[in-house]
Amino acid sequence: MTERELLQSGLERLVPNYCPQVVDKLCGFSELLIEKNKVMNLTAITDPCEIVTRHFLDCAALASYIPDSARVLDVGTGAGFPGMPLAILTAGEFTLLDALRKRTDFLNDCIVALALPNAVAVHARAEDFAKEHRAGFDVATSRAVAELNVLCELALPMLKVGGVFYAMKAVDCDEEISRAENAIRTLGGAPAEVIDYTVPHTDLTRRIVKIVKYEQTPEKYPRRFKKIESNPL
Ligand code: SAM
Repeated sequence: MTERELLQSGLERLVPNYCPQVVDKLCGFSELLIEKNKVMNLTAITDPCEIVTRHFLDCAALASYIPDSARVLDVGTGAGFPGMPLAILTAGEFTLLDALRKRTDFLNDCIVALALPNAVAVHARAEDFAKEHRAGFDVATSRAVAELNVLCELALPMLKVGGVFYAMKAVDCDEEISRAENAIRTLGGAPAEVIDYTVPHTDLTRRIVKIVKYEQTPEKYPRRFKKIESNPL
């Protein structure tokens, strides 16, 4: 199968009502990523078919959880995962946050080139961004950024009460979830639920950890990153 056929067939399973234009946008993003990756460290995955499966279809597993017009924060988006594919596939309003300016500059160039009206990339550390954007988002997402207890302190303060944090994790993360129980409770989250899925056209089983925020996060969180890392909740 070609890259485009893989993408179409995977999307038919994950986003059954997808609009055909999104295939062009995702292929366009893949080309921009491969090109820029020659001069900048963006992704270890460089084969176009693997970009489709391990990046696009993996991230597309979250598409059905993004309500129309939801304000979505992707914490530690890196080269735009899961935020960019989700901005292409859904009608959420995305803020793609990363601590590395080169990556957010690349993403803003892609957003212009692909004419995505519902995404902006922002260069900031999550714990600093939280000072101005407390309780400002309906949904937070994150993939491959930090342990869940650390991630929760970065993401939950920026969710509204009733908002949801979706952390994309390996399927064998039960112990990591147990270690995060205190952090989740302290930060106003309800106990984590898990949604396991298989990435189409692979034998990869992955896990979405879903945490609903049910009460305000105490004002003292997030702490400074050194403190979060050295003394996680
Ligand atoms: N989410 C992407 C993915 O799945 O491919 C990128 C993963 S990359 C391993 C982790 C990214 O998180 C890096 O780009 C890093 O700059 C960013 N990051 C780590 N800690 C952060 C923080 N406190 N605030 C914002 N970005 C952070």
